[in-house]
Amino acid sequence: MRLMDTLLSHNRTFVESREYEALRTDKFPGKNLAVLACMDARLVELLPRAMGLKNGDAKLIKNAGAMVSHPWGSVMRSLIVAVYQLRAEEVCVVAHHDCGMGGIDPQQVLANACERGVSEETIATLRAAGIDLEGWLQGFCCVEDSVRHTVTTIRQHPLMPRDVPVHGLVIDPATGALTVVVDGYEAA
Ligand SMILES: [Zn+2]
Repeated sequence: MRLMDTLLSHNRTFVESREYEALRTDKFPGKNLAVLACMDARLVELLPRAMGLKNGDAKLIKNAGAMVSHPWGSVMRSLIVAVYQLRAEEVCVVAHHDCGMGGIDPQQVLANACERGVSEETIATLRAAGIDLEGWLQGFCCVEDSVRHTVTTIRQHPLMPRDVPVHGLVIDPATGALTVVVDGYEAA
């Protein structure tokens, strides 16, 4: 059975047996919280459980590295919408140790793309169009520095209200232990 067939088969059972009833909630986060976390597969269940978050408790935004790479990109827009439309009153940025974006090599990613059939010509065309591929694929060396940078970008965004605490945290992907890098209450 292909993966998608497995997912859909499970879904039919899930809906028919009304498993969703235990998870019912509304769109407003019960803890008035928005979380920007890394997409790492180890955090799928670990992060909400380690933070005591149940279904409906928080707006959860995920990407590679828990980064805001552009002030006018979709991550920042999601946070702005969470604050103004969905009653989020605090923001947590949660990155983690052993992250795929730590020490990522943009050249290697591009080499892999070429191996998978993307032509050198395409890469050259993108560069000629002024796209900084290395910058776009840039990760971070130090996870704490990355969290500080992301917190600052969010806090200083011109559309973010100044009274929203923006916290910066690092989670251990094995134990779920959280380390505070930025205390959003002190900064707010
Ligand atoms: Zn990660």
